[in-house]
Amino acid sequence: MTLTDLTTKDWHARAGKLRYETRHFIDGRYADSADGARFSVVNPGTGKPLCEVSAGGQPEINLAVAAAKKSFASRVWSRKAPRDRAAVLQQFARLIEANAERFALLDTLCMGKPIRDMLTIDIPAAALNFTFFAELIDKIDGAVTATASDAFHYILREPLGVVGSIVPWNYPLLMASWKVGPALAAGNSVILKPAEQSPLSGLLMAELFVEAGGPAGVFNVVNGLGESAGAALALHMDVAKIGFTGSTEIGKQMLIYAGQSNMKRVSLECGGKTPQIFLADTPDLDVAVGYAINGIFGNMGEVCNAGSRLLLDKSIANEFLERFIAKGKTAYTAGDPLDPATNLGPLVTASHRSRVMNYIGKGKSEGAKLEFGGTQPEMAGSFVNPTLFSGVNNRMTIAREEIFGPVASAIVVDGLEEALSIANDTIYGLAAAVWTRDLSVAHKTIRDLEAGVIWVNCFDHGDMTQPFGGYKQSGQGRDKCLESLLSYTQTKSAWIHLG
Ligand code: NAD
Repeated sequence: MTLTDLTTKDWHARAGKLRYETRHFIDGRYADSADGARFSVVNPGTGKPLCEVSAGGQPEINLAVAAAKKSFASRVWSRKAPRDRAAVLQQFARLIEANAERFALLDTLCMGKPIRDMLTIDIPAAALNFTFFAELIDKIDGAVTATASDAFHYILREPLGVVGSIVPWNYPLLMASWKVGPALAAGNSVILKPAEQSPLSGLLMAELFVEAGGPAGVFNVVNGLGESAGAALALHMDVAKIGFTGSTEIGKQMLIYAGQSNMKRVSLECGGKTPQIFLADTPDLDVAVGYAINGIFGNMGEVCNAGSRLLLDKSIANEFLERFIAKGKTAYTAGDPLDPATNLGPLVTASHRSRVMNYIGKGKSEGAKLEFGGTQPEMAGSFVNPTLFSGVNNRMTIAREEIFGPVASAIVVDGLEEALSIANDTIYGLAAAVWTRDLSVAHKTIRDLEAGVIWVNCFDHGDMTQPFGGYKQSGQGRDKCLESLLSYTQTKSAWIHLG
């Protein structure tokens, strides 16, 4: 799908005709909650109610886990020939592409992402994710170890069983894909619990998995609130692993749930406060400024690795800021997320907008200089204008806490050592970037930065082969890569006596 195709479409008309499911998807069928409970989803672009979705709790999680357990025990997926399992996932990827318009509308209507981003970023990346893991399935092997001549020892890799995926709302389809893809590829049966703000695209995913040839019960979706459906899943005694993406606070809760239940494995992809270091020899200031703008204002700043802290060497700080202000003030303009020209949608909810505005207030009251933004555009929906603070120091709240909105903080530093110490002075460690012409400095900085993903002279570049995950309180899992697939397997050691 090209942008030219997009601009010819009337997305409001398409939204009006869109039909979608709002019930859970359990054992290959749609089903309401036992007590008929529902929760409301509001379209953040208009502030108006969008739909009512089945609200799951313990009974629905029990049903979904039982279906997943039954499908796993039947071996219909877990022992399917690797190439046949890969073929289903390849077909699943094609169906995601074929249903791009539906996915684009579902996520845009729920969480306000510009529809062009859905079509050009989220959906191609989600399809690629399933292709990548499909291609890996028959490349996983075990090992034969060295033994004395009276023994033969080999190590098998097997799926874990029933896996729970708990995901956030900022890239609903894509974050679900990063969890569900490797879990399914490894042969597990899955229960996805989408975020309550964006519950619809997960349902379509599960339906398309069955259409692609996936057996019923292997991919289930239960919607509901975190503290009910999410907690019931994470506490379930028959769930072998929780793959979680979300806030650091709830990530820690996942570890508690594991300890309170069955010591299930937990992989965590959590928050961030990404530093981008721009050294005196930043190669091309215009290019760097462009990346800095996109790195914090793209997806409304609702990105775990958003480049929210700009660490500017004092020798280039003024020029950098002048260019950032000149370009950044107008690069992202709030608009109707269903308009393909829009590049800045609303924040996910009105309450999240209040949270972000509260941070902007703190920035001002703690003495940072508001260079632009800090306001809400006069339109319906939960919009916040792109915002830049200069004169920030790393003790200020806006430099320490994850804002998850379009708010950049510029901090002036005196050379690499100070930049490194400020960059690492955070509880987070998801990603970081450094801009320099000096190869030795780049390599040294890569080693010294405490983050799981480092970019040099670029930002947010990557591929499916790139492990994506954090150091420190940004988590302890890795998405996207071979390591992610292996984390949904366990090893079995077989010792055979030959005597
Ligand atoms: P969140 O932690 O509030 O919710 C994430 C998921 O957990 C949702 O499905 C929610 O329903 C569920 N949940 C909430 N409370 C729960 C509980 N008590 N028990 C069980 N489940 C519960 O996060 P969010 O607001 O949806 O997403 C934003 C956060 O996600 C940000 O911190 C962001 O940095 C992070 N994130 C991280 C990555 C990454 O790869 N590191 C990617 C995207 C988002």
